[in-house]
Amino acid sequence: MSAPTAMAAARPPSAPGWPERQLTALLRRSAIRHRLLAAFIVLTLLPLLVSGYISYTESSKAIQQKTQLFATEIVKQVAKNVQLQMAAIETGSEALALSDAVQQALARYDLDSATEKGRARADLTKILLDAYGARDDISQKYFLDPHNRVLDPQVFAQLGRGVEQFVAAAPAAAANQGRPSWAALDLWGGNPSIAMVRQIYWKRDNRLAGSLLLGVRPAHLATVFDNVHLGAGSEIFVLDSRDGSALIQPREHAGAMAAAAPALLRAIAASARGGEPTGFLAYPDRAAGAGYFVAYTQIPRTSWYVVSILPDGALLAEAQSVRNKIVSIGLLCFLVAIGLAYMIARSISAPLEKLACIMRETVTGNYALRMDYEGGDELALLSQKFNEMAANISQTTEQLEARVAARTRDLELANEKLAALSMTDSLTAIANRRRFDAALEAELHRAARSGQPVALLMIDVDFFKNYNDFYGHQEGDACLRKVAALLQAHARRASDLAARYGGEEFVMLAADTDADAALALAEALRLALEALRLPHAKSPIGCVSISVGVAVLTPNEHDTADLFIRSADKAMYRAKEQGRNRVVLGGRK
Ligand code: GH3
Ligand code: MG
Ligand code: MG
Repeated sequence: MSAPTAMAAARPPSAPGWPERQLTALLRRSAIRHRLLAAFIVLTLLPLLVSGYISYTESSKAIQQKTQLFATEIVKQVAKNVQLQMAAIETGSEALALSDAVQQALARYDLDSATEKGRARADLTKILLDAYGARDDISQKYFLDPHNRVLDPQVFAQLGRGVEQFVAAAPAAAANQGRPSWAALDLWGGNPSIAMVRQIYWKRDNRLAGSLLLGVRPAHLATVFDNVHLGAGSEIFVLDSRDGSALIQPREHAGAMAAAAPALLRAIAASARGGEPTGFLAYPDRAAGAGYFVAYTQIPRTSWYVVSILPDGALLAEAQSVRNKIVSIGLLCFLVAIGLAYMIARSISAPLEKLACIMRETVTGNYALRMDYEGGDELALLSQKFNEMAANISQTTEQLEARVAARTRDLELANEKLAALSMTDSLTAIANRRRFDAALEAELHRAARSGQPVALLMIDVDFFKNYNDFYGHQEGDACLRKVAALLQAHARRASDLAARYGGEEFVMLAADTDADAALALAEALRLALEALRLPHAKSPIGCVSISVGVAVLTPNEHDTADLFIRSADKAMYRAKEQGRNRVVLGGRK
């Protein structure tokens, strides 16, 4: 029960869902350091851009709203001042129009007498001079008859026509709530003056008696702008929406901005004509790379608007400065974050890369490499565990190799023993028939190359059947061992080989041995055995003896081992025939 519980605990708490798996798979396509860098970039750059953008737009909006409130109030105030000025002129003109002098003069003019008309003209001219001659603000003053003809006899014909047309075009008093109408009057071209037209009615029957036109100098009205300051770079003036011209401008500056931006004036005029009497607009002048905030309000009963223009650059500079501060602090943080991200990424990826490199080496069998690690993080733990594992593998491999080497040595020894055994006769412990065959074959080849003679001694124990029969098989074996030991003792040279050929027959192979040497060796053997005097009751000589057939051959490549053995064998049989216990040299082939 405990093993599955432990495994469940080791597993992650829950398998990730589909989107998480997809995201993980996507992330794992790039290296860890790239993932970390991307995360830092997103986490630092995004808030920076968002906060910069929000701070700028929010503060710009707040500035615009404040400006709108403030500038609108100012233009309203200025408009009120203009109205007051106009009202003062209207009031004065009303008193004049209703005065007995004017009413009587107009009555005289109304009479059907040229003399009276002439007097009336002179009277009216004098009245105007008295009333307005000393006034700076009034530049033009004319009475006109009900048919809108100028009553001043001295007026220029052209000027008079202009005045008459102007008055004819003025709206009737009834349409103007009984009040005078105001409009820009441009008689000579250039700077227009501002003119008021008042229709004069008879006091007695309220019929139209004539009109009074008063032209006011714009410069006089400009006093309304005195002490009005909106801030650096701003301008305030009165705009005539009919033609978009600046009608009244402050005295201290010439309205450079207004003059320089006719498109702006047209835009204000269009906006003013189409909308509310009071308005505010943000006007971007893309061509000049500038923008303006414009507040305007209409002067009632006129086509005139008091307009204030504020370049937005100066106003938004504060917002821009805040934005720039946020962006530069953000950029600094961003750079620090990127540097930090790089360091963190390196602190993870560099040891991992090194580990992978060392592991590749380990796979090829180099177990000596180890990770250096410091600190106590997961990578240090991983490195430590890897080192332990590599050390274990290294130790195990060394042990394994040592065991394999030991086993190989044992096996080689066993093989050597086995080979020796397979070449040794078990009874006599000298070379067996197999080893003899191989040695003879090799020696014949060697001698064929060197041209040296090879000697072969075929040795047979005499009357051995009898020996066995008389002494028993055990004794027979013991006797065979003694004969073998004797032969072995006579094989003195490294190239000599004594072997048991089979049963009680032995062979002796001697390289580089001619017939004489071979006969001497055979004779020495026979004598040595005789000298041992091993008792043999069933032998005529009473002791164990051998018959030896000697064959000597200087071989060529056609000579076979078989024939060589047969030759020795034949010689050995001849020795038997000749009475045993002797040596016989065989003929060649
Ligand atoms: P000869 O050679 O003089 O003509 O007479 P022989 O009696 O030796 O005749 P032969 O060579 O035919 O006899 C060989 C005998 O050797 C027969 C067998 O009993 C005996 N013999 C063969 N191998 C062994 C052996 O390994 N041990 C013992 N004890 N006797 C063996
Ligand atoms: Mg025999
Ligand atoms: Mg024999």
